Amino acid sequence: MNEKIWLSSPHMSGNEQSYVQEAFDTNWVAPLGPNVNGFESDLESYLKEDTYVAALASGTSALHLSLILLGVKHGDEVICQSKTFSASANPIVYQGATPVFVDSEKDTWNMCPIQLEIAIKDRIKKGNKPKAIIAVHLYGMPYKVDEINKIAEEYKIPVLEDSAESLGSRYKGRNCGTFGELSILSFNGNKIITTSGGGALVTKSAELKQKAVFLATQARDNAPHYLHSQIGYNYRMSNIVAGIGRGQMTILDSHVANRRANFEFYKNAFKDISQISFLMEPEGYFSNRWLSCILLDSKSTREGLRLALEKENIESRPLWKPMHQQPVFKDSPSYLNGVSDELFEKGLCLPSGSNLTEIELNRVVSAINTYFAAC
Ligand SMILES: *Cc1c(COP(=O)(O)O)cnc(C)c1O
Repeated sequence: MNEKIWLSSPHMSGNEQSYVQEAFDTNWVAPLGPNVNGFESDLESYLKEDTYVAALASGTSALHLSLILLGVKHGDEVICQSKTFSASANPIVYQGATPVFVDSEKDTWNMCPIQLEIAIKDRIKKGNKPKAIIAVHLYGMPYKVDEINKIAEEYKIPVLEDSAESLGSRYKGRNCGTFGELSILSFNGNKIITTSGGGALVTKSAELKQKAVFLATQARDNAPHYLHSQIGYNYRMSNIVAGIGRGQMTILDSHVANRRANFEFYKNAFKDISQISFLMEPEGYFSNRWLSCILLDSKSTREGLRLALEKENIESRPLWKPMHQQPVFKDSPSYLNGVSDELFEKGLCLPSGSNLTEIELNRVVSAINTYFAAC
């Protein structure tokens, strides 16, 4: 059997262990320390736009804290892009609030501004104005930032930007992760950089960052004993994990370049296969191409191809199954136009790691060529 080719696997720079070693040498084996501060300032320098970053245990915990900071409570409604990973929506339920799902458009596969406005108007008419809008830059492709922000401003609803898949992506020259009232990042094992597990909350104010860190470290009031006037969480990033993050930041841009090269490689390799198409970058959009995705001409081609790749020990995966199709969210209101359903049926993510070798990429291409030659 050929060796397994993964969808997206961790890719270390070699610098990580020295930061981790330093943490051990200085006994900073705790959810605070120099690596946490260093990783936060590395991210702030990378993102620019006067951001303040709080390093947390995961992207999911960053989303949860963001909703708390935005004042989302029991009985509230929060709009969320339907085409996403479930972690975008789950924290809404942690707060006792209801997710309201909004479909995608075809240019970026992200939240459709038209459906968004329809949803907002309808929820207001029903007497429950949404408290926040969670928009996602899926697979690294920025959402329609100007269009979404314009609607959000018109109705005065804050945008929570889920940038878990899009560190290193840009919209009109500005970094993803800086567009929301609050934004979140993820450093889980398969993301563009990884700390094994981790995330961050990005804000525009030192005060909000401080509040996030306060809540993430059990909401301890300023007193010699343990005093609490609010419910706290254990969501801070560990100094060991942050050391991995500091090493990863040294190669973020080369990871982006490698992933973009994978996409170009596939695009070029399949240009004569009429059943395959790609999502191109609209003018002004720069995707980190976290995952290289293709669209097939039908659901059966997509599933046939996925199984053919599996037989060759190559991992591929359908695009995210929309949240409005998930059993757990079956009672949530949704505003749909059919786009995310069709993308789910026809879309496939191909192996996309920044560490894929040319031999591995050629194995993927030849397995796909063989499949279509037999069709
Ligand atoms: C990975 C991911 C998250 C969650 O991040 P974790 O660090 O795994 O908790 C949230 N949203 C999206 C879109 C993701 O891809």
